Amino acid sequence: MTNVHPGLPEFDYIRPASLAEASRFLAEHAGEARPFMGGTDTFVRMRDGAWAPKYLVDVKHLEGMQAIAFDPARSLTLGAAVNMNRVIAAPEIQAHYPLLAQAARTVASYQLRSRATIAGNACNASPAGDTLGACLVYDAAVAIHSVDGTRAVRLREFFLGPGKTALKPGDIVTALMFPLPPAGHSGKYLKLGRNVLSDLAIAGVTALGYPDASAASGFRFHVALASVAPVPLLPPEVEAILAAEPITPETIAAAADAAMAACKPISDVRGGADYRRYMVRNLTRQAVTTVWEAIA
Ligand SMILES: Cc1cc2nc3c(=O)[nH]c(=O)nc-3n(C[C@H](O)[C@H](O)[C@H](O)COP(=O)(O)OP(=O)(O)OC[C@H]3O[C@@H](n4cnc5c(N)ncnc54)[C@H](O)[C@@H]3O)c2cc1C
Repeated sequence: MTNVHPGLPEFDYIRPASLAEASRFLAEHAGEARPFMGGTDTFVRMRDGAWAPKYLVDVKHLEGMQAIAFDPARSLTLGAAVNMNRVIAAPEIQAHYPLLAQAARTVASYQLRSRATIAGNACNASPAGDTLGACLVYDAAVAIHSVDGTRAVRLREFFLGPGKTALKPGDIVTALMFPLPPAGHSGKYLKLGRNVLSDLAIAGVTALGYPDASAASGFRFHVALASVAPVPLLPPEVEAILAAEPITPETIAAAADAAMAACKPISDVRGGADYRRYMVRNLTRQAVTTVWEAIA
């Protein structure tokens, strides 16, 4: 019988002294070296035989990677290696970005969250990543260190396909940067899993809403869909419907229909494509209604 968990292959553990050294090493060993933080995706893939990097480059300890810096006049900078339990417990995140803490709380178990990071969730680029919707609706960007310097990429442009991102060899995500949240906002993440404990989403919907006088409805909503397309989706037509018409149960139902039409799910062990489509409609209606009741 085939062993589906062949065990960890041999690898060299690299602990660079600086971001410059780490980027240089990763660029010089493109294709055979990988950065890692919590390792909750990395070691599973290695154990299952999907990845066999010659070098694992530990970047958790490098400059700024463990910092949470909130400037009430500007933004939140969340060091890439901050684990999810720290995100959930951080008073500045609870106060200003509660949706991020709520989404992180849906990831697996306490034990897993003491290793897993939100930046790792993003770099792994699974369309099922539970924290990605919150990052998208708050319009976060990733800060990247490379051999050529630093740059920022909006998360809305970061995901290119399942497991594929805008990262190049030598790139290290150092932080997630969140603009100030919209005044008076409320958010909700609804995750449908096969159990309540530790499973990836069959479908997930993140909704964020806030008063906005420039919208005809008087409100602006951002809605992100997980596990129903090759990348996390932020369908513009859903936002457009909720901005254009007075918010009523009928408007919300129309937005939920648009969410269902926008998704392109596959059938897999967690659920069929049609089931996912209908669940997206239901979850969107439920999440947007919950947010609407909180901000109206
Ligand atoms: C039992 C179990 C249950 C899980 N349940 C859930 C769940 O319910 N919901 C969910 O969303 N996820 C779940 N996951 C997936 C996982 O925990 C997340 O994707 C996690 O957030 C990844 O973060 P990490 O720090 O562990 O990443 P790592 O494994 O360290 O890295 C992940 C990927 O990012 C790359 N990378 C790491 N750091 C950097 C960096 N600084 N710069 C550039 N690239 C980098 C790595 O090379 C790798 O490709 C589960 C995993 C396990 C093992």
